[in-house]
Amino acid sequence: MARLVMKFGGTSVADIDRIRNVARHVKREVDAGHEVAVVVSAMSGTTNQLVAWCREASRLHDAREYDAVVATGEQVTAGLLAIVLQDMGVNARSWQGWQLPVLTSSAHGGARILDINGAELIKRFKERDREVAVIAGFQGVYKETNRLTTLGRGGSDTSAVAVAAAIGAQRCDIYTDVDGVYTTDPRVVPQARRLDKIAYEEMLELASLGAKVMQVRSVELGMVHNVRIFVRSSFEKPEDIDPHAEPSGTLICDEGEIVEQQVVTGIAFSKDEAQISIRRVSDKPGVAAAIFGPLADSNINVDMIVQNVSADGSTTDLTFTVPSADYERARITIEKAKASIGYERLDTATDVAKVSVIGIGMRSHAGVAAQAFGALAKNKINIRAITTSEIKFSVLIDAVQTDLAVRTLHSLYGLDKT
Ligand code: ASP
Ligand code: MG
Repeated sequence: MARLVMKFGGTSVADIDRIRNVARHVKREVDAGHEVAVVVSAMSGTTNQLVAWCREASRLHDAREYDAVVATGEQVTAGLLAIVLQDMGVNARSWQGWQLPVLTSSAHGGARILDINGAELIKRFKERDREVAVIAGFQGVYKETNRLTTLGRGGSDTSAVAVAAAIGAQRCDIYTDVDGVYTTDPRVVPQARRLDKIAYEEMLELASLGAKVMQVRSVELGMVHNVRIFVRSSFEKPEDIDPHAEPSGTLICDEGEIVEQQVVTGIAFSKDEAQISIRRVSDKPGVAAAIFGPLADSNINVDMIVQNVSADGSTTDLTFTVPSADYERARITIEKAKASIGYERLDTATDVAKVSVIGIGMRSHAGVAAQAFGALAKNKINIRAITTSEIKFSVLIDAVQTDLAVRTLHSLYGLDKT
């Protein structure tokens, strides 16, 4: 017997038929003798609709009321799944965030989970013959005010990992519309392979750098509490799964659990980048502060930063990137600060992409990035900026060359499926 958390995303619970399919997956685990807590998302499209209604009702709506509205999506699916499970003869009960309770911070719309009462769920597993707990994801309650909170978009992944930590689950299964985590997006590289295992740190980088499999915060939480997270498909027929065989999917786990560690694990890319180059900035102390201070004050996240000395030796060129969504604001901020920064002109580009290569093996292998620069040059891909960290490096290139760059690097590091 094991204790499991099963999380189902919006597309997996999109209608009653799919909820029935989910219930059969749950029944399969219950029949195998496991104690099961299920965490559900809202039916796909529901949260978007609820958010749109809040905006339509008032552009400046109260964040507490926003939470009261958007938390309902998950409450509906939790109740529906409990009904379907009971109908199949499975002992089940739904739980809304405040009932468990899932205690959170007060940051309405983006609250953090502080504590979950796992003991109550465990007690019910014991006393009520493994009663399945069906928990509404994405929500909690702020104790001081007793008001509902939500965890930010994609937050039911985080709910699931937090529940798994609270009840000491052996595994947190994330059932989704893909069957695992791939070396890169298979739509760009058909040779992309599903990974059997990936380390938390690598998954964090992948998720932060553009792969959309899981909410970044849920991976962080898994890493902190050492929750083994298993990404698998909800569209596999429950009847087709051999209860005694290893299920197919990707395990996100501690690096110590990965025996055959590759140097490079995956390649992520993002086209939502913009580049701003400030030409001929005077090269004196305090210039970086004059540039990045105002950007920080405007809440603009600066990513890559490259500085080079210009030809005359007394001024410097400074390049940085921001998310496309912040590009206009960033440009205006820098133009407004022209007098205090002191520069000649701005050059900008929005048709750029960031391609990132990720792998824990880079810690112990030299020259991994150098190989990439050679291969990209051979394919006439110009690199506009580079950043590196312990387990990844990123290059900024022209957006039109993204697919070529990703394919080149994917085969360079031996990730293509054979
Ligand atoms: N329903 C919420 C959203 O769409 C939370 C989730 O699905 O994870 O963002
Ligand atoms: Mg999701």
